[in-house]
Amino acid sequence: MEKQAVQRAREAFLAGRPRPLEFRVQQLKSLQRMITDRQGEIATALKQDINRSQYDTPLFELIGLENEISLAVSKLAQWAAPRPVERNLLTISDQAYIQPEPLGVVLIIGAWNYPWALTLQPLVGAIAAGNAAVVKPSELSEYSASLLKALLPRYLDQELYPVVCGGVSETQELLRQRFDHVFYTGNSTVGKLVMEAAARHLTPVTLELGGKSPCYIDKDVDLRVACRRITWGKFVNCGQTCIAPDYILCEPSIQNRVVEGIRQTLLEFYGPDPKSSPDYSRIINQRHFNRLMTLLEGYTATVGGQSDSSQRYIAPTVVKDVPPQARLMQEEIFGPLLPIVTVSDIDDAIHFINEREKPLALYVFSSNKKVIRRMLAETTSGGVTVNDVIMHYTLNSLPFGGVGQSGTGRYHGKHTFDQFSHHRACLVKSLGMEDVNMVRYPPQNRISGKPGKLEHH
Ligand code: NAD
Repeated sequence: MEKQAVQRAREAFLAGRPRPLEFRVQQLKSLQRMITDRQGEIATALKQDINRSQYDTPLFELIGLENEISLAVSKLAQWAAPRPVERNLLTISDQAYIQPEPLGVVLIIGAWNYPWALTLQPLVGAIAAGNAAVVKPSELSEYSASLLKALLPRYLDQELYPVVCGGVSETQELLRQRFDHVFYTGNSTVGKLVMEAAARHLTPVTLELGGKSPCYIDKDVDLRVACRRITWGKFVNCGQTCIAPDYILCEPSIQNRVVEGIRQTLLEFYGPDPKSSPDYSRIINQRHFNRLMTLLEGYTATVGGQSDSSQRYIAPTVVKDVPPQARLMQEEIFGPLLPIVTVSDIDDAIHFINEREKPLALYVFSSNKKVIRRMLAETTSGGVTVNDVIMHYTLNSLPFGGVGQSGTGRYHGKHTFDQFSHHRACLVKSLGMEDVNMVRYPPQNRISGKPGKLEHH
């Protein structure tokens, strides 16, 4: 089944079907139509998968996707055009350019936390770049996966863009096939398996992984605003966001005010009982619910801490004075638990961040330009937003991706097009001006004068 889907996609690619720019634009517009026509069904699937609020569905899944599509449609001719490059003396009268070309058949493996955005945004770039793409949605967001499988073939070319559903064994079967690129979003353990499988075919990969994204709050800051923004980014989607702030670093002198700021904001956002708020999501499945509850064991929650396993509900939770060696600080949390670790000053904070794996995102809140400058200059991360969280993701002129353990490769906007293109080096010479070339042909003494000396015509 998986093998046949890949084979059919390859045949359609080799027949040149996805090459013409008009075809790509037509497919992208059709994908846009699917999102517009089916918004209601998509929101219902997300409600069933993760209790996503109706308000967050357009905001977190669909608007970004629509922006990506309209950008690709309007810029495709420019992106796909040859890019002339500088020439040297030997090539002065030739054509030298970089030609973006489709890679072939690519595999897109999506994650469950934003199942539409994380599966279809890479697809937009794959289509724009002229590839065939096999789409594998996450089995964990099962309602979204089966809706995608039902919808995509009604809007897009069925052979070029097949959807393969299933779990680990289906993904492993897919990974045994040969692709021209594999684009994976998910955790780093599976990321390694994907890279290993791809290596067997020397297939390049993009790995959009996760990790612990730190959030440093300087004492020189408007805490009310900082806490509102952090609370939003941490607890949206019940903390199941790859670039959610994973933990807070701050000095002990402001810790209690940070806690109070978050407590107040939670009340503003979700009321006194987040469990009954239509804006608060649930944990994706029982395994993740149990994992998160284990992380919390042995701690007293400063805010929240309540849970209900029958609904996979965990209240927005803050734990203060968390020691760096605590379990909460060893692995990516990916849930509504927010530890606060105190540091003595900015040097300590920078040291803390640099001692750990390079994060996917980094957040700095400060009114002090020097603090901001130091944080940016002395740390690294896939992306960074200053005085807000998550928002760098929304700007499709910025490349989105990790560094080190948080991932490899980048996408969004033109970066996705480039990720799914081969940048072919093209030099088109004429057969004239052979005199100039004589200098590189043997025998050494064919031309009087020294080798390397060029005659101009
Ligand atoms: P997941 O469990 O849905 O897995 C992702 C995909 O991997 C699925 O399609 C699944 O079928 C496949 N898979 C799972 N186990 C496999 C195996 N053993 N062999 C082959 N394939 C397998 O998603 P997840 O990993 O739970 O997602 C959460 C993680 O993803 C977090 O670490 C998060 O930070 C990260 N994430 C990163 C981004 C990003 O853009 N960088 C976005 C979202 C999530």
